[in-house]
Amino acid sequence: MNPWEKIREHLQGRISPQDYSSWVEPARFSHVEEDVLFVRVPNKMFRDFYEQHFAGDLQQALRALPLGIERIEFLEAPAAVPAKKGAQSQAVFDFDSPLAQLNPRYKFETFIVGPSNQFAHAASDAVARNPSKAYNPLFLYGGVGLGKTHLVQAIGHALAERRLRICYVTTNQFVHEMINSIRYDRMISFHDRYRNLDVLLVDDIHFVSGKERTQEEFFHTFNALYEGQKQMVFASDRSPKEIPQLEERLRSRFEWGLMADLQLPDLETKVAILMRKAELHGVTLPDDVALLIASKMHGNVRELEGALTRLLAYSSLTGVEIRVGMAQQVLKGTLAAQERLVNIEAVQQVVAEEFRIRPADLKARSNSRKVVYPRQVAMYLCREMAAASLPEIGRAFGGKHHTTVLHSIEKIQESKKTNKELTRVLNKLTDLLR
Ligand code: ADP
Ligand code: MG
Repeated sequence: MNPWEKIREHLQGRISPQDYSSWVEPARFSHVEEDVLFVRVPNKMFRDFYEQHFAGDLQQALRALPLGIERIEFLEAPAAVPAKKGAQSQAVFDFDSPLAQLNPRYKFETFIVGPSNQFAHAASDAVARNPSKAYNPLFLYGGVGLGKTHLVQAIGHALAERRLRICYVTTNQFVHEMINSIRYDRMISFHDRYRNLDVLLVDDIHFVSGKERTQEEFFHTFNALYEGQKQMVFASDRSPKEIPQLEERLRSRFEWGLMADLQLPDLETKVAILMRKAELHGVTLPDDVALLIASKMHGNVRELEGALTRLLAYSSLTGVEIRVGMAQQVLKGTLAAQERLVNIEAVQQVVAEEFRIRPADLKARSNSRKVVYPRQVAMYLCREMAAASLPEIGRAFGGKHHTTVLHSIEKIQESKKTNKELTRVLNKLTDLLR
């Protein structure tokens, strides 16, 4: 692992996942000179962002990690597309090399196709072969870690090879750039930049929720590109209908082209993904180990990858060959946590049925009486029956704070002492869960 990768790893749990994927992932290790680490970023906007927002985190990382690095310098990646003559925008924004914005690992060749993502893959492939002709816009959606970014960037790679002018941007980057452009009176070049493209790829578009000015800007960008028959691809963690606080006119445009969703992969697809990822690391994963991980990991592909990474790291650090027994040992904690997760889901299921609400209501933000009490009961049972930790329970209930969880559990413990009806319900649910 190079020093930048170590720093990235250090930052991962400390900054928000959005900031991480928008700002940290696209930055690449360049080189080290004495005690200075050089990191490549796609453009000036990134440099500014690092200086304004991450200076403290980076300092902290340098102090915490034994890297022998004193300082980090950010280099803007050289522009691969020659500047258009006379275009005013060039004075302010350099045209970023499209490839610098894309992760080299996210290509079609490395994407495993299975029933869970077949449609999204086929649609992406069609767009990559026939931009602006096949489907415009293409709207990919599905839960986190299921391969949306991978597919969007695969389209980007394919079209960059054809020398089309592409721009890949996360919604947070777009917002940040827009705010800076407003602040420094550069809206004209901002418009130029986004409307003189052949292909616009926008990731995590659900983050436009509630951002009126951004939505307006997207609306005009969309119209300009659509009229010019330029391809647009959006990725979102939910369908346009499910994005709250989204203007109707934008929602309907997102639905103009083709919408394709991604689901959790099935067992066979998970096995294939693990084998392929290991192969990319130059390791042949034994069938039974792949099957073990695939059958025990119930989450998304990113979690699957995380398990594999740990296994590969352990094996390469200790020299121990990858075998089933060794994998069980190394992944003990991870697999046990997965097991608890399944149990948490079972608890949510029976509690929801008992109180005639949907399991999703238990995870929602709502604090209506109708869901608060069942949620407390469910949290209590998760603690009792699934032996889950407070933070684990909090996460499984839509990201509640662990103190909220504790409070809920205590509430139930308290009222159980006097409330006969509650005792009856708890006994019934406990029986069901056994
Ligand atoms: P999302 O954008 O949907 O949150 P990503 O595209 O970032 O998810 O995918 C998370 C990780 O899982 C990435 O490393 C990606 O390469 C990998 N991944 C997801 N689906 C597949 C797949 N079908 N084949 C190979 N890798 C995949
Ligand atoms: Mg993504």
